[in-house]
Amino acid sequence: MEKAEKALNFIEHIVEEDLANNYKRDDLRFRFPPEPNGYLHLGHASSICLNFGLGESYNAPVNLRFDDTNPAKEEKAYVDAIKRDVEWLGYRWDKECYASDYFQQLYDWAIQLIKEGKAYVDSQSSEEMAKQKGTPTEPGVAGPYRDRFVEENLQLFQRMKDGEFDEGKHVLRAKIDMASPNMLMRDPILYRVLHKAHHRTNTDWCIYPMYDWTHGQSDYLEQVSHSLCTLEFLPHRELYDWCLDQLVSSDKLRPKQREFARRNLSHTIVSKRKLLQLVENGVVSSWDDPRMPTISGLRRRGYTPESIRNFADTIGIAKRDNLVDVSLLEFHVREHLNEIAPRVMAVLNPLKLVITNYPKDKEELLKTENNPGDESAGTREVPFSRELYIEQEDFREEANRKFFRLKLGSEVRLKSGYIIKAESCTKDTDGNIIEVQCTYDPKSKSGSGTEESLRKVKGTLHWVSIKHAITAEVRLYDRLFNDENPDGHKDKDFMDFVNPDSLTTITGYLEPNLKSAKVGEKFQFQRLGYFNVDTDSKPENLIFNRTVTLRDTWAKIQQKN
Ligand code: ATP
Ligand code: MG
Repeated sequence: MEKAEKALNFIEHIVEEDLANNYKRDDLRFRFPPEPNGYLHLGHASSICLNFGLGESYNAPVNLRFDDTNPAKEEKAYVDAIKRDVEWLGYRWDKECYASDYFQQLYDWAIQLIKEGKAYVDSQSSEEMAKQKGTPTEPGVAGPYRDRFVEENLQLFQRMKDGEFDEGKHVLRAKIDMASPNMLMRDPILYRVLHKAHHRTNTDWCIYPMYDWTHGQSDYLEQVSHSLCTLEFLPHRELYDWCLDQLVSSDKLRPKQREFARRNLSHTIVSKRKLLQLVENGVVSSWDDPRMPTISGLRRRGYTPESIRNFADTIGIAKRDNLVDVSLLEFHVREHLNEIAPRVMAVLNPLKLVITNYPKDKEELLKTENNPGDESAGTREVPFSRELYIEQEDFREEANRKFFRLKLGSEVRLKSGYIIKAESCTKDTDGNIIEVQCTYDPKSKSGSGTEESLRKVKGTLHWVSIKHAITAEVRLYDRLFNDENPDGHKDKDFMDFVNPDSLTTITGYLEPNLKSAKVGEKFQFQRLGYFNVDTDSKPENLIFNRTVTLRDTWAKIQQKN
């Protein structure tokens, strides 16, 4: 047994079996093969963690392979974003590979197939070909070009390559079996004409190989031992093997395709094509909009690589498709930020509080811990004065005994400060409370060692000193979709479930220590949640994203409904 600490997943079992039988440890090699047609999302994170995780477990190389065979949808910008995201997740690939690097080899192999009578140029329309393909229960029939002579096939294929034909006029098909129970084996298309410049090969090619004629061969060229893909490729495995059968030489390792279930997440979408629609329709501002389930969106939102990796690790891999509750991801980011994020005070829904017996011109600095759970995080000082903001939700004129916040006639402690007692409040003409007047106990200062400072009161409130507070734009996010499975409705489009209230922008009042907060820095706004500095933030115009609330309020709302 090579790997024992943790229960093995079924892919690891396959690897273990191979090691026990005919594979050497040095034979192991994996790859993560994104198509550069969009940004990586949480579904990819599962695949990345699986492949790179295997690399780590077995000390085996993992290639980053761009599956770039469709120039119509692919771009260099996506290549760059994908590399950035994989690196940010904390993984290092062995080789950076591109399917497009193999275009010549794939072409040469196609010629070989033609010469062996195993491929032919079909000159029908796609509709005609579809008609001949049959159905899962009826066999297909041969088209009129299936028995073209080798010479003619070679000439036509050459002319396809030379750019003599419009798109759709001719395709190259493998000649396998039009009656195969597996529809994919009914003479699959290997090449099509596409008059599109490619982001790497430019206009060198105007024929492009199909996925099935590329993936296994790329695995073979890179000597990947285990080519792991999602379940929809299960029926492709036979074709993957057929293609390899035509090429593999006995002194080389033969890659094997194995499948695992696609990961779907509740309340979001994991499909690049659909995420692109959100960007193009302006539902979100960009691929890295903090509401997006993309790696870059999560990074900008304040997620850490550790939290995403731990999430992927916890859900593991499965043999069957299922929906993972997104609150599990939120659990993991809370857990990590709880460890690493310094605590600060910020008020997001301010109510003015005046301490009537605190001298008008006095101000003082109160010492407070940066992380009560981690002494090494140190302390800082927060300015205190007579006029403060507290959260509106933290004060009520009257409330029952379970309300441990501030109400008239009762006491709370101001975090790292004094015990105060609410004496009266002022309302506007509509009856809204606009100010609370309190008194404080000067001897009750936290950490001063006096008997009063040790006195326990039920509630502790966060606060900021009005004259010292700085303001910031604070972006609060909610689920991007109102439905648990926006993509799972036959009669409705996922766009119908977009939550119109997924972003709320407010002004927050922050303790002045946050003035120098840098883009990407993460904090716990005490009692409110975890926040980080957005990439749009400027020193003169700070912007914070709420990464996640402290508790799972969504679960509570769901229970109530
Ligand atoms: P999309 O529909 O979002 O474009 P894809 O599968 O076409 O997804 P690729 O770039 O081809 O995206 O995928 C790269 C690798 O990531 C593949 O091995 C693919 O199987 C895997 N992958 C993609 N989405 C998921 C997912 N939701 N769960 C697990 N693995 C995934
Ligand atoms: Mg794809």
